[in-house]
Amino acid sequence: MSIRDHYLNLLKTLIAIPSVSAQQSHLPEAATCIADAFRLLGAEVIYDDTYFAPFIMAQLHSPHPDAQTIVIYNHYDVQPAEPLALWQTDPWSLTSHDDKLFGRGVDDDKGNLTARMAAVAEYIDEHETLPVNIVFIVEGSEETASRYLQEYLIKHTQGLTADLVIWESGGKNDDGVLEIFGGNKGIVTFDLAVTTANTDLHSSLAGVVDSAAIRLSQAIATLFDKHGRIIVPHFFDDVLPPNQREKDLVAALPITPESLIEKYSLNAPLYTNRYDADFKEILYFQPTISIEGLISGYNGKGVKTVLPAQAHAKLESRLVPNMSPESTIQHINNHLVPQGFPDITLTMTLGQPGYRSDMSHPEIARVINVARQYYHAEPSVMPTSPGTGPMAIIHDALQAPIASLGIGYAQTYDHAPNENVRLSDYNEHIDVIKALINSYNESKHKIINH
Ligand SMILES: [Zn+2]
Repeated sequence: MSIRDHYLNLLKTLIAIPSVSAQQSHLPEAATCIADAFRLLGAEVIYDDTYFAPFIMAQLHSPHPDAQTIVIYNHYDVQPAEPLALWQTDPWSLTSHDDKLFGRGVDDDKGNLTARMAAVAEYIDEHETLPVNIVFIVEGSEETASRYLQEYLIKHTQGLTADLVIWESGGKNDDGVLEIFGGNKGIVTFDLAVTTANTDLHSSLAGVVDSAAIRLSQAIATLFDKHGRIIVPHFFDDVLPPNQREKDLVAALPITPESLIEKYSLNAPLYTNRYDADFKEILYFQPTISIEGLISGYNGKGVKTVLPAQAHAKLESRLVPNMSPESTIQHINNHLVPQGFPDITLTMTLGQPGYRSDMSHPEIARVINVARQYYHAEPSVMPTSPGTGPMAIIHDALQAPIASLGIGYAQTYDHAPNENVRLSDYNEHIDVIKALINSYNESKHKIINH
């Protein structure tokens, strides 16, 4: 069996393990399977199962005493597969058709992991030794906000010097161009709840009694002006403004208001059209507040004339670098009281700060270069993705720039039914990672030649 087939088999085994982050029960099974595969690859493996989900650190050493170090971050936990009826294949079995691979976690993030393992294995098979140290850090709580990652890294990365971090995933954009991004937004999620009476009331009292449903909607509405701009005092105080290189990179991205409207058949107007703001600058460099879900009153069939006594809402705020999840929550809480809503309770649920790499850093330039040479085309370089991940935590621990590239494409459907990758992208990623490893050879030769 070829090396690539061996790791595709590993991917098949991993997809068949429903390692859903929130459910925990299958996480150790996936983790031991990965640890065994790393041992077979010849890595020095540290398996730490003292957390909610085991962590695997797998180190592959270069014999060169002055070798640099790449850290590769991945995760083996996945989102639930529901709604199952919308899948065209069994989410828990790796299925191949139309030159695509389908299955929950095939892109996010098991396929990225096995592609990178295949790259390292093939490189060692072809060259015998590595010109760079490679350290894989694989966790099992990424989909639930990497709750133990910070503590884990403090425990395990003492004495580990990293030069570059390769992020868990990435891929190609709508135009088929490889994207390389160096940051992500942070997030803080929170619940708002209010109870207005000891029971739901007859709605004939609506003329005199305020209801939980209306109270909560009004409280949420005070967070925004009529254009949708966030008006919470001090909310923007710590926002890190983009530098010129970051602005230029984002200005060069192909996304436009029109392409977004078209892609999702948007009916509601874009905020940025309402108040004439720079679409890309808001999307990439500004924080958000949004509602994830609202529950109150009667939602069954037909009519129930009731005045709800309770209302709950789940909200989130996407953060940019420098903003702290805790102070953001504090600002929102401090805003609600003087607005006349001291009875609304706010509970923070998850929090994670944001991060952006310096995209001019020589190690980031190396990644861009390798991709440019491999694809004979300029990659799309983004200082930040509008999404969220634990980049800030990894950067705090390792102090190395982070580059994100991977096996995905525009119709990968992470977290959704029919998650898939194209086999060609999967194989190209193996080649790119091998070329990246090889670039450390070339830089070593250059030093010797001088
Ligand atoms: Zn992921």
